[in-house]
Amino acid sequence: MEREVRVRFAPSPTGPLHIGGVRTALYNYLLARKLGGKMLLRIEDTDQNRFVPGAEDYIRQSLEWCGIQLDESPWVGGPHAPYRQSERKPMYRQYAQQLIDNGYAYYAFDTPEELDAMRARLTAAKVPNPQYNSITRAQMRNSLTLPAEEVAQLLEAGEPYVIRLKVPRKEEVRFNDLIRGWVVVHSSSIDDKVLMKSDGMPTYHLANIVDDHLMEITHVIRGEEWLPSAPLHVLLYRYLGWESTMPQFAHLPLLLKPDGTGKLSKRDGDRLGFPVFPLEWHGKDAETGEPTVSSGYRESGYLPEAFINFLAFLGWNPGSTQELFT
Ligand code: GLU
Repeated sequence: MEREVRVRFAPSPTGPLHIGGVRTALYNYLLARKLGGKMLLRIEDTDQNRFVPGAEDYIRQSLEWCGIQLDESPWVGGPHAPYRQSERKPMYRQYAQQLIDNGYAYYAFDTPEELDAMRARLTAAKVPNPQYNSITRAQMRNSLTLPAEEVAQLLEAGEPYVIRLKVPRKEEVRFNDLIRGWVVVHSSSIDDKVLMKSDGMPTYHLANIVDDHLMEITHVIRGEEWLPSAPLHVLLYRYLGWESTMPQFAHLPLLLKPDGTGKLSKRDGDRLGFPVFPLEWHGKDAETGEPTVSSGYRESGYLPEAFINFLAFLGWNPGSTQELFT
């Protein structure tokens, strides 16, 4: 049976929504509407250190102003509630345990000092990209190197640990990106990424995969900065036994600075005299902590229709001279 198309926009409430984020949301929305599917929004707030109060509200108001309607979200609800990851914690733990039980993940007890020392050793040996992986894990304190009784004792004693994915040493990981085509990565270049942190919170990788699966997402459309994470996600789908319903990936090229040298930032907008936020943002200066106000398209007098059409046309053209779409 054909699955219903389900897409998601999954922002982290770490600051104001940027025009790059609006564009990602817009592409998701357009695909859902074109294919008669559903668009949901999930708040990815597992990194409590980067949480910015007011950011979630800002995301909601910005999307409303743009006319991007959500079928499911923390504020409209839906069959897969809750839609905030911080309210879904017990689910992630259960899947991390399943990965451990099936031999695809392991406990690691290394202290920050031990990890720093490992990286320093590798850097001194001129290893280009120091990682915790299939080679270095053999020298570290984890449930693959320690005797089972010692692991049991450490867990019993409440020793802090993280859960890491056991990435295979020699394997090709491949997936067909809707924009990039076949992406093939050798597993030796993938880190044994942390899935559960020592505070019991999942990392982005685990929470994102578990939720995309449980929320029956069929297409993951997101910024290209996530392309390097996708091979790890493919491994997670495989190890959790969800390969047959893995979503299709589409990694969108990013909005760059006008000179093409990197991601567009607020500073570029200020310099060139255009806002990078949909609505005015009241924030704090990163250095001084002083309150700051950044202008948004709404307050600058742009119409939402103009803004949305401008964003859509940055990456697409219908092949005609029509310049305004609903
Ligand atoms: N929470 C991630 C972000 O803020 C989402 C990435 C994804 O869509 O998988 O960009």
